[in-house]
Amino acid sequence: MSFTDLGLSAEILRAVNEKGYTKATPIQHQSIPPILSGHDVLAGAQTGTGKTASFTLPLLHRLQHGTVNRRRIRALVLTPTRELGAQIGQSVRDYGAHLPFRSVVIFGGVSINTQIQKLRKGADVVVATPGRLLDHMQQGTIDLSAIELLVLDEADRMLDMGFIRDMRRIVRALPAERQTLMFSATFSKDIRRLAADFLKSPVEIQISTNGKPADGIRQVVLPVDKRRKRELLSHQIGAGNWQQVLVFTRTKHGANRLAGQLEDDGLTTAAIHGNKSQAARTRALADFKSGKVRVLVATDVAARGIDIQRLPHVVNYELPHVPEDYVHRIGRTARAGHSGAAVSLVCVDEHKLLADIERLLQTRLERRVVEGYAPNPRIKAEPIPQGRSKHMPSKRSGGGSSRPSGAKRPGGRRKRSSRRSAVTS
Ligand code: AMP
Repeated sequence: MSFTDLGLSAEILRAVNEKGYTKATPIQHQSIPPILSGHDVLAGAQTGTGKTASFTLPLLHRLQHGTVNRRRIRALVLTPTRELGAQIGQSVRDYGAHLPFRSVVIFGGVSINTQIQKLRKGADVVVATPGRLLDHMQQGTIDLSAIELLVLDEADRMLDMGFIRDMRRIVRALPAERQTLMFSATFSKDIRRLAADFLKSPVEIQISTNGKPADGIRQVVLPVDKRRKRELLSHQIGAGNWQQVLVFTRTKHGANRLAGQLEDDGLTTAAIHGNKSQAARTRALADFKSGKVRVLVATDVAARGIDIQRLPHVVNYELPHVPEDYVHRIGRTARAGHSGAAVSLVCVDEHKLLADIERLLQTRLERRVVEGYAPNPRIKAEPIPQGRSKHMPSKRSGGGSSRPSGAKRPGGRRKRSSRRSAVTS
């Protein structure tokens, strides 16, 4: 469907045109009209479907045509990670290029003072991660009393990351009279409960069923022994002449180790995970996008929301513990209609994880044994250390947060938000 039929303003259509988009994606054409007419929306869509524009475009339109309340924060987008926050912030700037709105992105890990200064100058849109937003709320450095529109992006991931109490605290502090949009890749019971609490008679939109990956992703499993994975990966990158490869590991330590080994194999490599500074992560991502770095090794949380046009290859060096993470990971490729390949190196220890993924996808993935790398049948499966994964009961039951919500450490800084990231990011 063409964008011109959706009811967006000329200024927004101009920006969309400048981005080079010709047709609205399914999530865009289904969600933009109800959002424009003021409905709450509950949308099931994963990254790669064009979901960011599906809320950003109508959000800007609503601001443009609503009450004139200049430089008061009228729209708030909550998002789980800094990377996603930065990308949504960029989308707001891109799509709002011909509108007078100012936006501020707020996330942890960087100076709060710079954010305070920006907020003081006034903003119409704020994009924030929950932890740092609460810091601002507690310090009285942000005024959310004029919010008309709230977007909860990747709500399922915010729950997984233990943000439930933070989200509730934030939403409680917002005007009750507002429009709320909730986007989530999956619809668990918890998400449904949250939607029931936050949304009023929402229009429900479901784009992909069962968290299925986008069409256009070729998925293949390469069976291999654990100790030969690195060698096989280097071989695949070289033999296939892959120039831009995003590789997933389960742990930060694993990401660092693999990045070092690939460097030793002569591949320019960077690693991103939760232990890296924001500056290091931003630099690694920029180097990867520009082609300076050929391989980016990442953990699930760090990679969340990475948006690279036409990223051709995603590799699961280790399968994730949580099957939905597989879908998120491979969603980095084949974005917005491009094609891409998702390659999983699977050792005998991971057969159960693979079975879980195939059950979620309701499909059996193609296996291809690479010559010279056939697994040794005598090697027996060993248990994979779980770490503090989200399957552990304490993660699910504790009300969502390892810290008392909003609590500060003695030093005044909030404890890092993600319980999951304690081990896996
Ligand atoms: P998202 O699902 O929001 O992460 O978007 C995935 C990618 O698709 C981003 O790089 C967007 O810039 C791009 N995109 C969004 N909408 C469209 C569209 N209508 N046509 C082409 N590309 C799009």
